[in-house]
Amino acid sequence: MAERQRRKKMQIIKAKTAGFCFGVDRAVHMTEQLAEEGHRVATLGPLIHNPQCVASLAARGVITIDRPQELPAGYEVVIRSHGVAGSVYDELQKMGATVHDATCPFVAKIQRIAQQAGKEGALLLIAGDKDHPEVRGIVGHATGEVLVFKDLAQLEQISTPENCQKKAFVVAQTTFEVTKWLESTKFIKKVYTSPRIFDTICSATWARQQEAEELAGQCDLMVVIGGRGSSNTQKLVRVADRHCRTLAIETAAELSPKDFEGVRCVGVTAGASTPSSIIEEVLNKMSEVVQNEEMSFEEMIEQSLKPIFNGKVVTGVVTAVSPSEITVDIGTKQTGFVAASEWSDDPTVKLEDAVKKGDELELVVIKVNDQEGTVALSKKRFEAKAGQAEVEKAAEEGTVLEATVAEQVKGGLVAYVKGVKVFIPASQASLRRGEDLAPLVKQKVSIKIIECSGRRVIGSIRAVLAEELEAKKEAFWASAEEGRHYQGTVKNLTDYGAFVDIGGVDGLVHISELSWDRIKHPSEVVKVGDVIDVYIKSLDRENGKVSLGYKKPEDNPWERLRTEYPLGTVFTAPVVSITKFGAFVRVLPGIDGLVHISEISNERVEKVSDVLKVGDEVKVKLIEADFEKHRVGLSMKAVLNDAAESEDAE
Ligand code: SF4
Repeated sequence: MAERQRRKKMQIIKAKTAGFCFGVDRAVHMTEQLAEEGHRVATLGPLIHNPQCVASLAARGVITIDRPQELPAGYEVVIRSHGVAGSVYDELQKMGATVHDATCPFVAKIQRIAQQAGKEGALLLIAGDKDHPEVRGIVGHATGEVLVFKDLAQLEQISTPENCQKKAFVVAQTTFEVTKWLESTKFIKKVYTSPRIFDTICSATWARQQEAEELAGQCDLMVVIGGRGSSNTQKLVRVADRHCRTLAIETAAELSPKDFEGVRCVGVTAGASTPSSIIEEVLNKMSEVVQNEEMSFEEMIEQSLKPIFNGKVVTGVVTAVSPSEITVDIGTKQTGFVAASEWSDDPTVKLEDAVKKGDELELVVIKVNDQEGTVALSKKRFEAKAGQAEVEKAAEEGTVLEATVAEQVKGGLVAYVKGVKVFIPASQASLRRGEDLAPLVKQKVSIKIIECSGRRVIGSIRAVLAEELEAKKEAFWASAEEGRHYQGTVKNLTDYGAFVDIGGVDGLVHISELSWDRIKHPSEVVKVGDVIDVYIKSLDRENGKVSLGYKKPEDNPWERLRTEYPLGTVFTAPVVSITKFGAFVRVLPGIDGLVHISEISNERVEKVSDVLKVGDEVKVKLIEADFEKHRVGLSMKAVLNDAAESEDAE
């Protein structure tokens, strides 16, 4: 018997989110319980997109009908988690049928939004597959105009100028692809005048897709379990297939040990309608493969002689370059290819500029196709392997790294640093929550790695910005003193003043410090983003507060009055307000002087408004200036008397 030795075991990682979601679990549980209690049950359509589960229910007497009219006498009906149109409920009620409603609450919420859209006379836009039962159900709850689109291209088609003017409610099928949803809503926000967007993608779907993507990134094989008719399962397959070889199966019977040849790490996930029993079966079968992974010396020698396998780093020489791929000689009978998408994430990079015939490249094998004699290779993954070590070190040491933001996703940003994919949660993408992250896409940003476990790498722009801010603050307080001037940027306006960033620290210019004139709101003087010259009026080091001054002493109107308007000065100025006892006249911005009723004319004036109105230009003489109490007295009568006197003198 050949001597046997054990090679390193294949690792199996099961996604935490694999299997039944809340809505499906609820529907299956409800149906099973009814069957157990002896009810005769019919489900309206297959309860879930999983033939094995439907068959197991059928074995317990649960039948499937397509229309209410098919309901046999004595049977009760279960409405599945996808929900149905309002007309179906009406029909069942007319028939007097007992209805058990397992519509998922998340779907029911969309149905309510559809009804509300109709009530408000809005156009209802549904992102989804028009033939999917969930979408048909939602459409069946709408009472107004409805349009369904499956992708951006269809959305663009239905977005006529007339539709764009309409009030629009926008919802998504719960299993709609997140990336398609993001690009669709971006378009809607741009072209529709008043859209109300409801993000109705189910978090169960989103979480499964996210985890499948992460898992596929760290495995060389993904096994996705689920019904072939299940849209969320098929989406998981597509997501995983972008990263590694992916097998879509319904049951364990479809697996063969050959599928795992050369595989070191396999990820397992399952659609939301896959029962846990099937997942268990698949895991058991895979464990058997691992148990049987003992191989003979001959097998080991044969394996070691195999020149390539997934994940191997190879050196190749470029033999041809086209805009879409590079052909590489890797010294084996197979031909190596590097697709443009496996070269770089930067869409502006052109392969013809990046490499030339004869260049030697280090690459990672991502797929071997023995039938076709080809090997798919990746430069990105080679860089990621090398970069992974650097990123881990940076995470340990708290080093700042430069990353390029590739895209905005739900919940944050995806960036690459040294070929390693890094997720930056929205909460870590900026200093202030709720900031628009779109301008960061395609930009280089400084990040710190705050979590690094395997392929799960989390970065933070905020950590870098917070450190920079802290350093600026320290520098500010070290040099701050009253009277010191700064060029600051207006960050925020409130009723009581303007907050100005003077280099890491926001100081407050109180509304009374913004202008010598009386103003009702700071926006009369400054606006957010203005760069203004301010000076420190006072510092509260203990509480970190800074009061700033903005108006300049030389602009003080009382100083101007003192120097430019000696007593007796005669000038013309507008009436700005009328009171019972006189009229106020604008002397200078910030100073209104009073012409007392007795100083208006030599004749007796009964009512000020009989002779003056706001806006009149009047000639006045400065007869009193109280700089302490900030009071100015003016006289129109004195001007008249002066004129009369000079006439007499002539
Ligand atoms: S995927 Fe979400 S919306 Fe659909 S049934 Fe499951 S929990 Fe409900």
